[in-house]
Amino acid sequence: MSDTPLIGVLALQGDVREHLIALASADALARPVRRPEELAEVDGLVIPGGESTTMSKLAALFGMLEPLRARVRTGMPVYGTCAGMILLAEKILDPRSGQETVGGIDMIVRRNAFGRQNESFEAAIDVVGVDGGPVEGVFIRAPWVESVGADTEVIAEHDGHIVAVRQENALATSFHPELTGDHRMHALFVDMVRAVK
Ligand code: GLN
Repeated sequence: MSDTPLIGVLALQGDVREHLIALASADALARPVRRPEELAEVDGLVIPGGESTTMSKLAALFGMLEPLRARVRTGMPVYGTCAGMILLAEKILDPRSGQETVGGIDMIVRRNAFGRQNESFEAAIDVVGVDGGPVEGVFIRAPWVESVGADTEVIAEHDGHIVAVRQENALATSFHPELTGDHRMHALFVDMVRAVK
């Protein structure tokens, strides 16, 4: 028996491998999750960056939308980065037609809010709950959070826009900590999973 949490990375599309590596270096067991049976086994889940429209279509196709919604609703810790943040939103501005979300965080998210691929950038981001100075935020066609509900805590902003939030067991960032060598965001999430486990 071990206290090491088992954390899945939703592996339908996106930068799965980088999250697996970041989670492992934050002392979790990490594995890709594609099917409902695999989802049932993990203590927490990361939804990676990629393309939220493709990811939500594949989630529907693989029969994962309802199981994801059910586990998030019943308190499984979940962390979404970039496209993953979009999937955790209750509402998206500028969705592609028919684009569905898993939901879980009471927030409205604007897709591609920070501009197009060639407007990608990096910035130092102070995150509430992460000690040791700002994290390096990598923003790639990144969304921002337009507004949050009363139960959603804003944990980081950039240029007056909300770029990280937390609502109970759900965490989301506009940026991609998995693309840097700094795994403090993943460590924060692993702690959230441990607290529930
Ligand atoms: N703009 C993408 C989307 O809508 C997200 C980009 C990313 O995850 N880096 O899904």
